[in-house]
Amino acid sequence: MKFCPKCGTQLEDNVTFCSNCGTSLNAAAVASNDPFDHTAEFDAKDISDNKVIAMLPYLMGLLGVIVAALLAKGESQYVSFHIRQALKLNIVSMLVSIVAAVLAFTIIVPIAAGIFAIVIVVLQIIAFFQVCGGKAKEPAIIKNLNFLK
Ligand SMILES: [Zn+2]
Repeated sequence: MKFCPKCGTQLEDNVTFCSNCGTSLNAAAVASNDPFDHTAEFDAKDISDNKVIAMLPYLMGLLGVIVAALLAKGESQYVSFHIRQALKLNIVSMLVSIVAAVLAFTIIVPIAAGIFAIVIVVLQIIAFFQVCGGKAKEPAIIKNLNFLK
């Protein structure tokens, strides 16, 4: 048994197209060449079942991380992935605000930090829409950070 990566329909192993949505399963298996796109590593059923929970960390910040962790109880690889990405975004923005506070007298650093904070918000919005599409991509900027892999 396998599952359609797009809609999660359960399919026979020998089919090449999803009987429900028509997605080519071979094309989906190849997925993308983006090394930061981990979508193919997750079970399609896991993604479709836990999509809503995976959105929370991007919508509600650290509170969303905690709520998602409680709801998923560590049983969803997909949710765990997005919790890690959202945590990274939150940690990076916290570090930047600390640096900005320490270097507030320089004026230019707090301004740069403010712009960076907006970038982080944009990254969270992009990540949120990727979850809507059932994707698992590491957000830009933080994808080069090696902690919380
Ligand atoms: Zn399908």
